[in-house]
Amino acid sequence: MKKEENGNGRDEMVIDGSEEREGNAVPEGLNVNYLKLYYGKLFPHADIHKWMSYGNDGKHPGCDQSYFGRREFSFTLDNDIYLRFQSFNSASELENSIKEKCPFKIDIGPVYSVDPSKRHAYAQTGDNVFTPVERELIFDIDMTDYDDVRYCCAGADVCLDCWPLMTIAIKVIDTALRDDFGFNHILWVYSGRRGVHCWVCDGKARRLTNEQRAAIADYFHVYKGNENSQKKVSLTGAALHPFLARSYTEVLRNFFETKLLSSQNLFSTEERYEKILDMIPDESLTSELRGKWQDNKRSTSSKKDIDSIRWEQLKTMLQSGKQKVQGLRRCVEEIVFSFTYPRLDMEVSKHMNHLLKAPFCVHPKTGRICVPIDPNECEEFNPTTVPTLATLLEELNMGGVRQEVNDELDRTSLGESIRFFRSSFLQPLLKSCKEEIESSYNTKLQRSKNSLTW
Ligand SMILES: [Zn+2]
Repeated sequence: MKKEENGNGRDEMVIDGSEEREGNAVPEGLNVNYLKLYYGKLFPHADIHKWMSYGNDGKHPGCDQSYFGRREFSFTLDNDIYLRFQSFNSASELENSIKEKCPFKIDIGPVYSVDPSKRHAYAQTGDNVFTPVERELIFDIDMTDYDDVRYCCAGADVCLDCWPLMTIAIKVIDTALRDDFGFNHILWVYSGRRGVHCWVCDGKARRLTNEQRAAIADYFHVYKGNENSQKKVSLTGAALHPFLARSYTEVLRNFFETKLLSSQNLFSTEERYEKILDMIPDESLTSELRGKWQDNKRSTSSKKDIDSIRWEQLKTMLQSGKQKVQGLRRCVEEIVFSFTYPRLDMEVSKHMNHLLKAPFCVHPKTGRICVPIDPNECEEFNPTTVPTLATLLEELNMGGVRQEVNDELDRTSLGESIRFFRSSFLQPLLKSCKEEIESSYNTKLQRSKNSLTW
C-alpha cells in the first residue's frame, strides 16, 4: 500500500465536498481510544466486505476474484494525513488495516480496472489503463445548501424543525429511483451531522457511464438559472413533468403546508414574506397581498396561524378564476418547490471517481455514527438521537464482564441499525448479485459449448 500525504497531493483528490470544506484538523471531540474500541468491537467490517464484494467472494466459478481488491478505500488519519488508493484482498486485510490505522474517516471510491494500490506499476508498463470501471450511483444532500429556506439554524446545525427537508429529499429521490429508474438496492445513510447520502447499488447502476450518471442527475435538477436569484425554480410548459407532479402532490405540498410553513414561520415577518412575494411576477397582486399583511399586523392575535392564513390568502389570489395566466397559477407550485425540492450536490452524482464516506463511520465532529435510514420510515428518523461513539461505549461497559462477542452489538443501540442494514439491504442485494453471477456464467458456458460444436 502506498502512503500519500495530504498537501501537495491534494489536488488529485476528489473527496465528498461537504466534509472537505471544513478542513481536516484533528477533531476536538474525537477520542482516539474510543475509536479504537469502536473499530475493535462494533464496526461491521465483515458486512462492509460482503457488500463491496457484490457476491464475488464465494466459490462459484463465475465469481470475479479480483473484484473487491480493485475497490478504492481512502482513510483520513490523525495529523491531516490522507491515505488514498488503499485496496484489500480480503475481509481480514480490510479489518486489520482499519484496526491498525484507526481512521477518523473512511471513504469509499470506485472499482478500478486494476488494483488501485498498484496503479503506478501499470502506468509504467502502459498495457493496462488505470480507470474507474464501476461505482454505485451516489447522491449527497447537505443541509447547508438549504440555508436560504430555513430560519431555525444555519451552517452545520440541524434541528427537528429543518430535518424534514432531508426527509422530503429521501422520499422524492427514493421513489423516483425505484419507480422511474427501476432500481431496487438503495441504501440511505445519515452523514453524521447535517445531511444524507444515497447509494444505489444495483448492477446496472454501478455500471453507468459518467454521461448516464449526468443524465440521471439532470432528471432531478429542476433549478434553473442563477442560484442567487429569488426565483430558484422555474417550472415551464403547459403541464408539470409526471415526476415533478407526483413529487408535488405526494410529498412537497404536504410537507410545505403541514410542517415547514409553521416550523419555519415562512410568512411571519416582512422580510420573509417579501422573499416569497418576489417570486410572483405581478405587481398588482403582490401589492394587494402586501397591503393586507401590513394592515393586519396589529389585528392578528394568534401568531401561530399567521403563516397558514397568509399562505391561504396567497393561494386564493393566485389560483382564483380571475388569474387566467398559466404562469401565475404555476407560481404556487414554484414557491413550494423553492422551499422543499431536494438540492443535490450534482458533481458527486455525475462522476464515478467521487469518494463518499462509508456507512457506520463516526462523524469526527459530532461523534454520531453514520447509520442507515429506512426510506419507508424516514419520517421517524431523528438525527438528534442517533447513537454517538460515547453512548455506544457506555452501553458496552454497562454490559459488564460477560464478553460474548456476538452479544456486544446487541447490547448497544447500534445493533438495530446493523440488523436493518443486513436484512433490508445486504441480504436482498447479495441474493440478486448471486443470481446475476449465476446467469452470466451460464450464458458464457452455453456460448463456449456452442462454439465447440461448430
Ligand atoms: Zn433547524
